Amino acid sequence: MSDIFDGLDKFGFDEIGGDLFEPDEEKKEKKNSPVKDVVDTSSYVYKKQFTCPVCSAEFVAILARTGKMRLNHVEYDLRPVYDYFEPLFYDVIICDKCGYAALSQQFYKIMDSQAELIQKQISNKFKSSGQTSEFTAETAEQRFKMAVLCAKIKKAPAGEIAYLCLKLGWIFKISGDAENERLFKEQAYRGFTIALAKETPPIMGLEEGTVLYVLAALAKDLRRNEEASRLLSEVIVSKKCTEALKTKAKDLKREILDENVATQTADRL
Ligand SMILES: [Zn+2]
Repeated sequence: MSDIFDGLDKFGFDEIGGDLFEPDEEKKEKKNSPVKDVVDTSSYVYKKQFTCPVCSAEFVAILARTGKMRLNHVEYDLRPVYDYFEPLFYDVIICDKCGYAALSQQFYKIMDSQAELIQKQISNKFKSSGQTSEFTAETAEQRFKMAVLCAKIKKAPAGEIAYLCLKLGWIFKISGDAENERLFKEQAYRGFTIALAKETPPIMGLEEGTVLYVLAALAKDLRRNEEASRLLSEVIVSKKCTEALKTKAKDLKREILDENVATQTADRL
């Protein structure tokens, strides 16, 4: 996982410990994604004032106006796809003074002891790059990585880190960066597996069955079809899952079976 925090050098972090779910280790980094997906955002966003729970600075953040968006469809991995606009790019808020970053709905959910860790390990090194007015896949990748780094530093539960990594995987998918998409989906898979074993659902608002389904979709993306099928079978027979989720699970399981048949046929030719 040597590339997880790529791109955070602009915030002052160029040598960050590697494993998200283990105590700190060393790691290196390299290039950045060149993709830019500029969108006309004016009618889809609004400004909101925040007071940083770590350093008390007041700042204005730009958030997505959910009511304005038109849902096109939901992907097999539960990523909502909207027409004309990508709200994912606006999910993370960063305090430009101290570097504390988190999902907007999580921003104030931080204990004093965690704020202290952020001050010691983030704020002391953080370099402001100025609040961005341009929300692209590239800026979203950097903002999410800062949120992942802060979550790791404040010793957030595995489910919280996994959820951030899932969304980062989605962003890299949008920007067409398959290598980083896989890197973060791998981390999301690890994190949600740990979370299911150690945490009590809901995990970041996701019920247990939904987490199982997301794990299955991640396993499929990571080409672990056997594991994906096993997890989908769990969803299909679970009493805790909704019928809608079970239908999605059956569809995805059928897709995996079809893929397996296609691969076996290709192998024989
Ligand atoms: Zn702050």
